[in-house]
Amino acid sequence: MTDAPALAVTSHPLQRAGAWAAAIIAGREQPAEMTADDLAAVASRLTSDICEAATASKDGAAYDWWKVLFALYPNSKATHSKRPSEQRALKPEIENLFAPDAAGAIVRPCTFCGADAGAVWAKSNLPLFDTSKALNTLPPGVRGWPVCHGCRIAMWALPYGAWVTAGSATVLSCENEAAEREFARRNVQRARRILHAGFNGLVAGARAELVAVTALRDAAAGLCATTLWSFKNDNQEPWLRVTRTRRAVSVFLATVDGNASLRRGWHLLRRALTRYDAKGAVTAGGAGEAARLLFEAEDGRSRSLLLQLHYLLKESEDSWRLADRDALTRLAFTYAEEVYGMTTDLEPVAVLLTEWIARGSSPRGRLAEYNNAALSDYHLGQLLLRASVRLQMDDTGTPMAGPSTGRR
Ligand SMILES: [Zn+2]
Repeated sequence: MTDAPALAVTSHPLQRAGAWAAAIIAGREQPAEMTADDLAAVASRLTSDICEAATASKDGAAYDWWKVLFALYPNSKATHSKRPSEQRALKPEIENLFAPDAAGAIVRPCTFCGADAGAVWAKSNLPLFDTSKALNTLPPGVRGWPVCHGCRIAMWALPYGAWVTAGSATVLSCENEAAEREFARRNVQRARRILHAGFNGLVAGARAELVAVTALRDAAAGLCATTLWSFKNDNQEPWLRVTRTRRAVSVFLATVDGNASLRRGWHLLRRALTRYDAKGAVTAGGAGEAARLLFEAEDGRSRSLLLQLHYLLKESEDSWRLADRDALTRLAFTYAEEVYGMTTDLEPVAVLLTEWIARGSSPRGRLAEYNNAALSDYHLGQLLLRASVRLQMDDTGTPMAGPSTGRR
């Protein structure tokens, strides 16, 4: 039994992040390499960290780790307001969460991996799951979700593999496993620092997106879909926010790394996005803010990199040195080409507009019409379509840009 693989990596993003974290804590390359002894070692580490955090004084560094646990597992044995204040009294209750199934326990298939599960858990131990009162969503006749030994440990190793704040956690799912592992590895290190020095011991202004982008870069991930899941498992208002990169973002990052002018553009963007307070301390790190622009929110409420570069070039139009303006413009064009697959050759569009203006009965009127339309991308799009149709009907024989040109 000791050498059997004991932990599965499933497609559930929280279980997955926890499985990677457990593997890293155990010093394994892959969760599938974990043995029962590794699981026992991870369970023991979780238990001692939880007991230290749950009994820490409110001004102690470890209390910050308790805030993390509270945001993920409210009402659990570790976070309940009536928990024992002595580690000795709390320890058996926490050990019990991660103990192997008792002999003779009723066994059901694990909610995550399908293995035999002798315990049923609900919201207090499983972030974003319902309480055991949610009869509509529970398996019939069971007061919770069956969770196997390995997945119970994974679901509590989760905060180590996630980017955590005092009130939320963020995990990464990525088609590239090396990037997932690297994201978890960096967060396991960060968790150790939080436990020992609290949030004050961390660099200010960093972000989950930056850790994800660094992981994609380090893994040389190539084309891959990348999703960040941020959540809070609050009693009153739990929330989940999902953001994604386009699949070509890591290819774009590799292009930037390999080109001096694009690297300069990225550096200028980072510098422009760094925010300071009145005392000169960093409140928003430019590297994190720039990384954030590579992620698009599911609800559409996110800033885009192209728009940010546009604002940057426009806001201080006269203050950029020519080489810097060129670097920022190249960065925007490379992003449009690599990530959106757009061609940035504008010549066919220029020919279309020139022909359309020149061939009108009043070229001056058409020029004025173009000048007005150019103020809004919606109106400009409409005008380009109209001009293209008009010229096709005139059939001048000149090849023109049309609705199908400009996309790959
Ligand atoms: Zn399982």
